[in-house]
Amino acid sequence: MQDKLTLMIPGPTPVPERVLKALSQHPIGHRSPEFQGITKRTNELLKWLHQTSQDVLTIAGSGTAAMEAAIINTLSKGDKVICGENGKFGERWVKVAQSFGLEVEVIKAEWGNPLDPEQFRKALEADAEIRAVIVTHSETSTGVINDLKSISNHVQKHKNALIIADCVTSLGACNVPMDEWGIDVIASGSQKGYMMPPGLSFVAMSEKAWEANKRSNLPKFYLDLSSYQKTISKDSTPFTPSVNLYFALEASLTMMQEEGLEVIFKRHERHKKATQAGIKGMGLNLFAAEGHGSPSITAVAPQDIDAEKIRKIVKTKFDILLAGGQDHLKGKVFRIGHLGFVNDRDIITAIAAIESSLESLNLLKKPIGSGIAAASKELN
Ligand SMILES: *Cc1c(COP(=O)(O)O)cnc(C)c1O
Repeated sequence: MQDKLTLMIPGPTPVPERVLKALSQHPIGHRSPEFQGITKRTNELLKWLHQTSQDVLTIAGSGTAAMEAAIINTLSKGDKVICGENGKFGERWVKVAQSFGLEVEVIKAEWGNPLDPEQFRKALEADAEIRAVIVTHSETSTGVINDLKSISNHVQKHKNALIIADCVTSLGACNVPMDEWGIDVIASGSQKGYMMPPGLSFVAMSEKAWEANKRSNLPKFYLDLSSYQKTISKDSTPFTPSVNLYFALEASLTMMQEEGLEVIFKRHERHKKATQAGIKGMGLNLFAAEGHGSPSITAVAPQDIDAEKIRKIVKTKFDILLAGGQDHLKGKVFRIGHLGFVNDRDIITAIAAIESSLESLNLLKKPIGSGIAAASKELN
């Protein structure tokens, strides 16, 4: 049977019918008053989602475009930056920063553990020349949430440094109050918490980041955010925007506003807890350190069992797509995405499918139904 695929990977995530319908309309002219209206309304909705009074700039590109934009629009050649690295995405920002000739100091934590905010405090106190701290809030590769609030707090006390955050799998899943936490730059992408297809990415910058923008000398043209900032004040965009993705964006953000931020965060928290309980209940281990699991993704370390084997059976028998492990974690972990347009049924189904797959492989260590029983308890 075809067309019954359930996506439970950390992006692309499932897309609601209402958003798909919005996407499938005829494109309209991007210099029309109708499109200006969409630009204006989506900017307001994005500000609501980011909990900020700053404009949120929309770029045609994936999440990486937003992060690259964050870096090249606030920094200059030779600037000293600190990158937090406890997974694949942390590694990526080190590479981006180095590609643009920045001097990078890396603060690491073992994959599966969170970054230690104290190490950031010490590194910042030791060097007045640091221009930015770049961190991943929810590290998708390991299913770990980092303490962005505390790290941001340490950066506030430093005279020169900005805090640049990859919030790609935290925005729309847990509380990320940009203005309250004093985050200078937030980057995100449409195929994650936004319940949209891939193709759009978003950057919001604080006053301090815009000040830094005036001095920044790294090369940029398509991703020069000052041109996006100039045009958004006229409810417009510098280049041809992804018109249909804007239709989808307005639909998805409207759905999010109807549900309410607090309700969305609680839903993700419940699904995280239920997934963790279900996995432990069937006798498997979590990869992320206890208490540091991401609200949007759970990484499972099935120890002596090949993680890819479980993932393949879940796909062929149940048509549920889980994510594998990256780099040295390949075969060691599989990951369950529970981000965006996800309900209790998706969680129960995924846990049952994993449990049943283990049973069919004769690898289930607990009586069948133990995982489901534990997950159900959290969903009551
Ligand atoms: C998905 C993701 C990104 C963006 O990746 P793209 O493939 O460029 O969209 C960035 N950071 C994290 C933590 C992610 O999960």
